[in-house]
Amino acid sequence: MNHPTLTQFVSSLADNAPNALPVAQAQRIVQTFVQPIDGVETVTIWQALGRVLAADVVSPISVPAHDNSAMDGYALQGCDLLPDGPTTLAMVGAALAGRAFEGTVAHGECVRIMTGAVMPVGCDTVVPQELTVQATETAVTVPQGVVRTGDNRRHKGEDLQEGRPALTRGKVLRPADLGLLASLGLGQIQVKRRLRVAFFSTGDELRSLGDTLDAGCVYDSNRYTLFGMLTRLGCELIDMGVVKDDPASLEAALRAACVQADAIITSGGVSVGAADYTKDVMAKLGDVTFWTIGMRPGRPMAFGSIACDGKSAYLFGLPGNPVAVMVTFYFFAREALLRMMGATPQPLPLLRVPSQSPIRKKAGRTEYQRGILSTDSQGNPVVRITGSQGSGVLRSMAEANCMVVLHHMQGSVNVGDLVDVVVFDGLV
Ligand code: AMP
Ligand code: MG
Repeated sequence: MNHPTLTQFVSSLADNAPNALPVAQAQRIVQTFVQPIDGVETVTIWQALGRVLAADVVSPISVPAHDNSAMDGYALQGCDLLPDGPTTLAMVGAALAGRAFEGTVAHGECVRIMTGAVMPVGCDTVVPQELTVQATETAVTVPQGVVRTGDNRRHKGEDLQEGRPALTRGKVLRPADLGLLASLGLGQIQVKRRLRVAFFSTGDELRSLGDTLDAGCVYDSNRYTLFGMLTRLGCELIDMGVVKDDPASLEAALRAACVQADAIITSGGVSVGAADYTKDVMAKLGDVTFWTIGMRPGRPMAFGSIACDGKSAYLFGLPGNPVAVMVTFYFFAREALLRMMGATPQPLPLLRVPSQSPIRKKAGRTEYQRGILSTDSQGNPVVRITGSQGSGVLRSMAEANCMVVLHHMQGSVNVGDLVDVVVFDGLV
């Protein structure tokens, strides 16, 4: 999996964009170069949540398997209902959920029926019990005009039709899909194997939890945010700890990661001021390009693939700043990892919401501001940005419930202007 074209391709772009690669272009390059992994496994429904469906699921049965009632009431023949007055029908039996009425219903007759019960032969309509009058053990009266023929009847195969695709490969399975599989009687399903992702932090100033914090040092927080984001994507994680800022340590870590993982995510050491050996080491191991992206936060990023002992892995060298690592993960690595997992990524839904904050913004780069989405006094959605937007201020990320995406050509935002927002959590 060597792509000499990645380096060549990106250097040809650099001539056109000497200062910074626009976000959309960088995203396209990443999405184009990654390939889905092979490897399928069979799991039970209980293990399938969040996994990527490896093959289309074709319905082995129709759901529902029979026409049935949508209401508790009385099943009847619509043509028996009188157009100009109440209709009294003789009750000849009952149809319960799971226990069908065995006979045939003739004209002038009806059957007591419960929700989900199979429609008795001869009946095409259900009148809800609360719309009837004078119901006794033997007869019921339906007032004029309360139902039309076909009302309150669910059709066979209305939910899923036998032989038709019910779920498409590449879908990341959600709770509804588990229920849908069960409704088809399928207890096991083929999913892609989990993507193995190795990750480590780089920096001599980083201290691990439990260490004393010497002057000028910080605790390594990126490995924990990466752990959270990768776990939510459903990856198998290989935590490689903190790696010192020296070429031998970096090379050893990258080699060890490459032989175990499908993808490697590092943080730190890729900015312009960082020691040049990062580039040398990464370039020595494979086909890696170093980008300055037209975005804030998170300008520097390395992307490519490396090889070691006949194994290869995609590499994302993310910036070190705690907010930048999250933003570059969400807007570059996330979709690429989903593609590697075999998923068909859906575009991130953007909401357009009025901003309560004025935001200064220069055209010519994409900005990701941390926002708080809420409702105003009239109940309409509004967004404001969290306080300090510095790329090292992780609190801004923890306080936020969304990202305000200010697009490449967009300028400053006035109060009340509509802005695009990506919400962090939907119904999880
Ligand atoms: P770098 O990209 O390596 O130049 O790092 C940029 C900034 O991010 C520096 O202030 C680092 O101390 C900080 N930083 C880098 N890695 C981490 C990390 N894993 N956890 C917390 N801060 C970090
Ligand atoms: Mg560093």
